Formats: sequence, structure tokens, C-alpha cells
Amino acid sequence: MLKFPKAYYEHKQVTAAEVEVPPAELVNQIADEAVATDSPTADIDKPSEVAQRLDTSWLPFAAKTYKISADLNDYVIVNIPICPSDIPNRNGVGFPLAELIAYQPPPIARLTYKAWTGCPVHLEHDNEDHEKAIGVIFDTSLRVMKGYGKDKHYVVYGLIGIDKKKDPETAAKFASGAMNTGSMGALADYFTCSVCGHRATDNQFTNCAHIRSTKEVNWRIMDIDGRKVVAFLNAHVLSPIEYSCVADPAWATCLTEMVLAK
Ligand SMILES: [Zn+2]
Repeated sequence: MLKFPKAYYEHKQVTAAEVEVPPAELVNQIADEAVATDSPTADIDKPSEVAQRLDTSWLPFAAKTYKISADLNDYVIVNIPICPSDIPNRNGVGFPLAELIAYQPPPIARLTYKAWTGCPVHLEHDNEDHEKAIGVIFDTSLRVMKGYGKDKHYVVYGLIGIDKKKDPETAAKFASGAMNTGSMGALADYFTCSVCGHRATDNQFTNCAHIRSTKEVNWRIMDIDGRKVVAFLNAHVLSPIEYSCVADPAWATCLTEMVLAK
């Protein structure tokens, strides 16, 4: 069942028409600039480095909101992938690079992938109540996915903090490496077909021939003009909301995401 954080659901006002993605010819250039900009802090994996190299002055305030610790030393810090660009997940939803690097107007007011910073960390997408958070995302960074797709795919990494006091069990699993995967949560304003670009809705009868309903798992390999292509949904106008620790991630590369249609 899809869930929305109540606060977000009630207040999100940005509409698709207000967000423009960068033109295709500039997307990789902007992404490479973002990778370079992030690189000085992309390798952080210790609480001491978080304190030295990032602005965490907001943590005491986030702590009050999420009911988590205000002390950085209470966190297990892990730097892990939260979302690849352009590759569909097991639910058949892909996140175009152009969307991840688009600078959005308020209330996002930053590059989209940067907006996971400050979002809560939950267990198993139990995200309706932000006071159930077990941690927080300290930072995100964009990296090139080396050796895949001619280095034209990118991965958003999250600097995830799990509160040892709020959830000792999960924190211990991440600290020992027994758990090192999760699943991001984001809202998407709309979806399009990866093959023909048509807008997709929850009504399968009005959609194009390549995909089904936005409510169903949507990926399949199709033979189009003698060419094998993967048909899936591209998500547009993303609003990051959370990262979840999950026991059973099914993404082939240990990445899963959950995307909610608004
Ligand atoms: Zn189509």
C-alpha cells in the first residue's frame, strides 16, 4: 500500500508545469559538474568527518521534529546508494538524470537529488508519521556509475545516519555491515512511457501500448521494430521524502525505491 507523509501530502503545492528540466544536451554536463562539486564530501563515512566537513547545525532542530538524537555521536553513519539514474527499479520506475539534477523552485529550492538531505530515515517505508524516524540523511552526493552504460549513468548516494539510541538494533546491523541496503521514497508528479514518451495514468485503457497502469508493476522487454527495449515508467518532478532501511531489497543492484504518485 502506498503511503504519504501527512505533512507533505497536505502542503505540496508545486505542479509539474512549474518545473523545467535542463535540455538534453546539457544534462550530462550539469551532472558532471554536480559530481565534481560533491566530490570533496562524497567519501565521508565517520561521524567526526560529518562534523568537520558538513554543516550539521540543523540537526538539533531536525531532532526535535523527528524525535531523534541531537548528538552526532549517537549516529551510525553509512554512505550508501539511494537511487540510480535512468535504470528502472523492480517496480518498473526509472528516475531520469534530467529530473534528478533539475533545480526546482520552492519549496524544494535546490537540485532535486540534494533534497534528500535532511529527510528522515525510516524502517520499511513506515513514513506516514515522521516522529517514527530512526535517523536522518546528512547529505547526498552524485557519482558516476563506473563501468556501466559507458559511464553515462549516475547514482545518488546518501550519507545516512541511524540513531543508535532510537533504534539500536538497526544501527548495529548497519555498523556491522549485516545491513547495507535500503530504499528511497519520493513523490512523483507524473509518469511517462520510456519507449514513446506518452504520459501514463492509472487507467491502463487510456495508456500507450508499452505500459500498463501506473498502479501496477510496469516493466517488460518488448520487441519494437526488431529491437529489444525495456518498457518502464519514467518518473517526473520528484520530491524526495525519505530513505528506508528494508530487510528484503529486491533491486538487482541492491537498490530499491518506492515512488508515490501524487
Ligand atoms: Zn509508450
